[in-house]
Amino acid sequence: MTGYLFRNISLLEPSVGELQSGMEIRIEGDKVVAVSDRPIPPGAAEIIDCGGRVVMPGLIDSHVHVMLSEVFTPRLEGVPLTLATGRAAVLMRGMIDRGFTTVRDTGGADWGIRQAVDEGSIAGPRLFIAGQAIGPTGGHSDGRRRTDVFGARCHCCNAMAFTMCVSDGVSEVRKAAREQMRQGADQVKIMMSGGVASPYDPLDSLQFSDGEIAAAVEEAEAFGRYVCAHAYTPIAITRAAAAGVRTIEHGNLIDAPAAKAMAEKGMFLIANLVAYYAMKERAADFGMSGDMLAKNDLVIDGGLRSLEICKAAGVPVAYGSDLLGALQVDQSREFLLRSAVLSPLEIIRSATTIGAQVIRMEGKLGTLAPGAFADLIVIDGNPLQNLGLFQEQGRHLAAIMKGGRFHKRVIH
Ligand SMILES: [Zn+2]
Repeated sequence: MTGYLFRNISLLEPSVGELQSGMEIRIEGDKVVAVSDRPIPPGAAEIIDCGGRVVMPGLIDSHVHVMLSEVFTPRLEGVPLTLATGRAAVLMRGMIDRGFTTVRDTGGADWGIRQAVDEGSIAGPRLFIAGQAIGPTGGHSDGRRRTDVFGARCHCCNAMAFTMCVSDGVSEVRKAAREQMRQGADQVKIMMSGGVASPYDPLDSLQFSDGEIAAAVEEAEAFGRYVCAHAYTPIAITRAAAAGVRTIEHGNLIDAPAAKAMAEKGMFLIANLVAYYAMKERAADFGMSGDMLAKNDLVIDGGLRSLEICKAAGVPVAYGSDLLGALQVDQSREFLLRSAVLSPLEIIRSATTIGAQVIRMEGKLGTLAPGAFADLIVIDGNPLQNLGLFQEQGRHLAAIMKGGRFHKRVIH
């Protein structure tokens, strides 16, 4: 047999936005080759009767860190790369079990782990990687203790040094961006404001000079890539927009003028509300410090408001989770949190159509149109009416396929 013919499905094509019943999809190799409301000749394909279940494209999480296996990130200093990689394998299996067939890693994952997934050595979602996240001395990428004065550390020895890069000055930032792309980065990640999980930088600190940011953008564009920036405050977001950054990560404290600046530049926001709720509830159990939790409180209230501000300004918002270590089991809870201000369809589009735009894979991912990769999930129910179907670690998914191969299959 070659390929699969899914029959008797209710198709949820996010760009259409409503269920289409009685549909059929033919998969050949790693692609969708036909979608129809009339019988498709099966040829040599295996026929799978879906019994009217909903079939939709695999989910896309546009902000994860598969290599950050500690909630209290300074502990990564004591984690060797072998251990970090072993843990990443477990974290990525959890992601694909939950229906995420593509994730965008915004700091830490390298080409080696991406290749391990592509080869099938590790079960996990497609990875779009940034390599090391680049930030200035004392910024969100600087994981040194205050007693560490001279910073050179071996990248092979611990997960902290492997995932973060400290660069100062135009030529160092230029070189760091080039180095990430030499090593296969799909996007270049820079830090433009303080962060929650870094101990010493104030949340409203502005990181990198205009010249340093411009160097990263220029190099990324020259290589056919783009810059994504970690930023919380309106001023940091506005600086990013002016410099040609393409995506804002987090953006919790965004205001209407900053959102307008993003809309004018055709930028995307990748929000990740769940990270802040999960940290508030459980991060102290994993060693996160009081200083970090205080910063967490500053951004948690802005989360839902940021979604409303971006919707009003016409800024597309992608689905992100940004959970660290053991908190990653909460990845799908983002669907529920956003439903306080958005419709299920809007949230599903953030995790399919918009995610595909962010990674520049429109028509290939986040859709089940002919020519797209055969990344799909089969669901026991209609998520347009019940986002709870994405919860409980994939329990309501009858099948998960990535690139034409089943990761999970309980239907025949
Ligand atoms: Zn992050």
